[in-house]
Amino acid sequence: MRTLARTLTVSGSLAAAVALGGLAATPALAATTLSSGHVDVLDAEWDGADLHLHVHDEETDTEYEPADVTLSVPAAAKVANPGYGFLGSGSQVWLLPDTEAEADAAGVLFPGISTEHLTTGVLANNNVTYTLVSATRNGAATEDFSIYAGSGSRWFDSNTATTSFKSRTFAVATHNHANWAFEEAGTYQLTFRVQGTVGGVTESATETFTVVVSS
Ligand SMILES: [Zn+2]
Repeated sequence: MRTLARTLTVSGSLAAAVALGGLAATPALAATTLSSGHVDVLDAEWDGADLHLHVHDEETDTEYEPADVTLSVPAAAKVANPGYGFLGSGSQVWLLPDTEAEADAAGVLFPGISTEHLTTGVLANNNVTYTLVSATRNGAATEDFSIYAGSGSRWFDSNTATTSFKSRTFAVATHNHANWAFEEAGTYQLTFRVQGTVGGVTESATETFTVVVSS
């Protein structure tokens, strides 16, 4: 049984805060903080009329609106920089690993990109494309976020010096796990879009995900 957790009060007060004060550099944190376990951060759903993006906690089988969740990346996530050029020159990076065993050993999130709630025969080519629309750290555009496979091949990179590594297509009904890397501590706002075609019409949903990386 899946539960849809919604914290409308928090969403409402956040919206009010934005309306009154403009965009804060570091937005108020959401009601629910997720810091460990198998969580599909990007989880697309089709409700018959629209695409949606949720955060799906596989541990408790709970769905959250992205605005209601803060993803926490603790200091325990720090590892030696694997040395791929796109991870910068720091000696360490914060890494959410691509295997559940590594994530559990470190006590950190095992973050996924899911299409498991999309069924075959609805979306053209039975796939959707996820796009990293924008990324900020402490309110400013950042190059310090990437998602890459174990071999160091990038799926997404917030680096604005390249237009590559912004979009990736996934088949429906799949679970996709890779390494989520953060090069600096801070509060990240990651905006992702999921897009697909239904009956010849382009459908999409865009949501912003808050990640707090602690030193
Ligand atoms: Zn998953």
